[in-house]
Amino acid sequence: MQRRLFLAAGGALAGFGLWRVRSHAANLDPLADFALTGQLTQGGWARGKAPLDTARLLFGGREVRLAPDRTFFIAFDRDAPPRAELVAELNDGGASKGQFAIAPRSWQIERIPIGPRPGSAPSEEFARRREAELAQIKAARLRDNAVDGWRQTFIYPVFGRISGRFGSQRIYNGTPGAYHSGMDIATGTSGTPFVAPADGVVILAADSAFTLEGRLLMIDHGMGLNSAFLHCSSHAVKTGDRVHQGQFIGRIGATGRATGPHLHWSIKWREARLDPLLFVGNMPG
Ligand SMILES: [Zn+2]
Repeated sequence: MQRRLFLAAGGALAGFGLWRVRSHAANLDPLADFALTGQLTQGGWARGKAPLDTARLLFGGREVRLAPDRTFFIAFDRDAPPRAELVAELNDGGASKGQFAIAPRSWQIERIPIGPRPGSAPSEEFARRREAELAQIKAARLRDNAVDGWRQTFIYPVFGRISGRFGSQRIYNGTPGAYHSGMDIATGTSGTPFVAPADGVVILAADSAFTLEGRLLMIDHGMGLNSAFLHCSSHAVKTGDRVHQGQFIGRIGATGRATGPHLHWSIKWREARLDPLLFVGNMPG
């Protein structure tokens, strides 16, 4: 049986001379036959290319959208199980499957000296505000835009000290909270400009500060992948704007719940929370 020719050079996914003898219920090597490249670990991601004649692609049993050139994007939650499966349902009724490993990671524990205060129940006023804020965030994530940021190699929105790592478990005044959902970057001051890490469409630019996130800015990179920037002092774009990688979009601040000025950058694909570090690599310098 002839196998697909897989070219890893430069991470380029387009323009392969591909061929494959049709088979039913074939077991494929995902790295080769789905041309998977990326970070196959918890909090990571991959881009790939579906086999020829794919009618529908399933990842973990759910359909994944294909671009017209059959390229796709998938990602792996912070707590993703150690194995994942891609299934390509073919136009002729056959199917090709490929399993691959998601490398586990260990996460650091981080102690934060501020609230939520143990024993104090949130007020009704807070609960009402929070409900409205979460509804806005949810609605923003449902906005789906034809944009190709998901194909790009992401860049840092700003350079600085990484003051909080993705996935670390926070302990607030001795009470364990949710794990840290993003990467914190501190420049030592408020007002530092930051840029879009990839092309996208602004899906939320909160005019007033949210209780926890402060002035929140969210960008859709397409295919279910989006970035959120928290605690901003100001935004340079508004909801609906198209932005390009490297474009100035806002300024760092300490709005919402923050111990000091920093940019909290989180990335999600569908419900999966991802590690920005796995998109941009180590902080330069
Ligand atoms: Zn943070």
